[in-house]
Amino acid sequence: MENKLTMEKLVALCKNRGIIFPGSEIYGGFANTWDFGPVGVELKNNIKRAWWKRFVQEDPLTYGVDAAILMNPIVWEASGHVANFGDPKMDCKNCKTRHRADTLIEKHSKGTVAAEAMTNEEMEKYIEEHDIKCPNCGKRDWTPIRKFNPMFVTSRGTLEEDADKVYLRPETCQGEYINFLNVQRSARAKVPFAIAQIGKSFRNEITPGNFLFRTIEFEQMELQMFCHEKDSMNFYQNYKERALNFAKDLGLNEEHLRFHDHDKLAHYAKAACDIQYLFPIGWQELNGIHHRGTWDLSRHQEYSGKSMLYLDPFTNEKFIPNVIEYSIGADRLTLAILCEAYEEEKLENDTRIVLHLHPAIAPYKVAVLPLQKNLNEKAKEIYNILNKEFMCDYDDAGSIGKRYRRQDEIGTPFCVTIDFDTLEDNSVTVRDRDSMQQIRIKKDELIDYISKKIKFN
Ligand code: ATP
Repeated sequence: MENKLTMEKLVALCKNRGIIFPGSEIYGGFANTWDFGPVGVELKNNIKRAWWKRFVQEDPLTYGVDAAILMNPIVWEASGHVANFGDPKMDCKNCKTRHRADTLIEKHSKGTVAAEAMTNEEMEKYIEEHDIKCPNCGKRDWTPIRKFNPMFVTSRGTLEEDADKVYLRPETCQGEYINFLNVQRSARAKVPFAIAQIGKSFRNEITPGNFLFRTIEFEQMELQMFCHEKDSMNFYQNYKERALNFAKDLGLNEEHLRFHDHDKLAHYAKAACDIQYLFPIGWQELNGIHHRGTWDLSRHQEYSGKSMLYLDPFTNEKFIPNVIEYSIGADRLTLAILCEAYEEEKLENDTRIVLHLHPAIAPYKVAVLPLQKNLNEKAKEIYNILNKEFMCDYDDAGSIGKRYRRQDEIGTPFCVTIDFDTLEDNSVTVRDRDSMQQIRIKKDELIDYISKKIKFN
């Protein structure tokens, strides 16, 4: 078995098999945007559903919301994004390309230097002393480092001169903080409780790229746990474990996952950690878990004038809850899952590409394949029964071997073949994607058989 995956191979497979297309392609594209195709939208929806099931449905302490993308601009003043959000950018004066100073230092030091902890002056000094050159043209002719605010700005208002400046949210979590009081009151929630959300975020990134890894528009799945300070470290540890288990349960290999605890923290933070995944481009952040203290609710209290104090009904203590945040990109996780699942498997006389996706997130659970066209009627009858329960594909074009390969390449866990015996005894052949073994079962047992194998717990 071999698996030499490159991003180029994955991008090509995704395009050919309707998983992910380059954005705005017929107009020459629009860099770092991607459109999920008929197969990819199922995969990403299944991943989002699995996350929601694990962290909202199965957790009585967590409430879901779906907040507006466009918010009162004061939200972004309170959050600190207007004044402080941004990455350290510098331009190459020679070839005019733009780069992130912290990323260049981290790459140059092979991850041994935590550039996130350095001031602009320290980074400039490091770049000079270590002679870090422009990765594009090879010269070292940098502008000074400046902060670049990656928030996309748009305007709201029908008359141009009165239009208000508003922002496309660069993170989803503010929608949870500003609904803390609403959720707490309407759900009669007692601290500790969490608010979760899945939604789009937008960042005008300085160095987007690497397929879905860093894009300018992406989805985040994240939750904020509001708790008393005395419980906060326990929740922090607990979410680290739960986040790791979720990644493993979705099929990511334990050896390709690791914790990366942050040395330098934001001034309000008490602890922070990423889970990194070994992508084809190296170890990179998959998700973050942050202990944010009382910073977020305190700031919203200050800017909105609304009290964020919680009165504990058991102890009568009044306090502003601490926040533990767990945040993971749905697109970045989809990329990790595709990388992990991809295999070029050598067979006796052939090679096949197969996506070993966990059946719960596979785009199609089953494909119905009549052996010959004149079996279409029976095959359609079975397809119409199965598609009430699962996403199913139907394919009657080409040889059965080619049809199996197509399903392997999109990770369909089961192929059901209809042959002439089916007409006689209502039995079908079920082929397993990973083992390629085939069994014969009655058509009436199919739903039960498949349902049991596609559970995500
Ligand atoms: P990075 O250091 O990679 O820029 P970050 O620390 O800014 O990420 P957070 O703001 O903590 O990331 O966002 C939480 C998660 O959202 C990340 O762990 C990642 O999975 C996802 N994410 C962040 N930015 C992007 C992006 N530009 N494209 C795709 N996913 C992203």
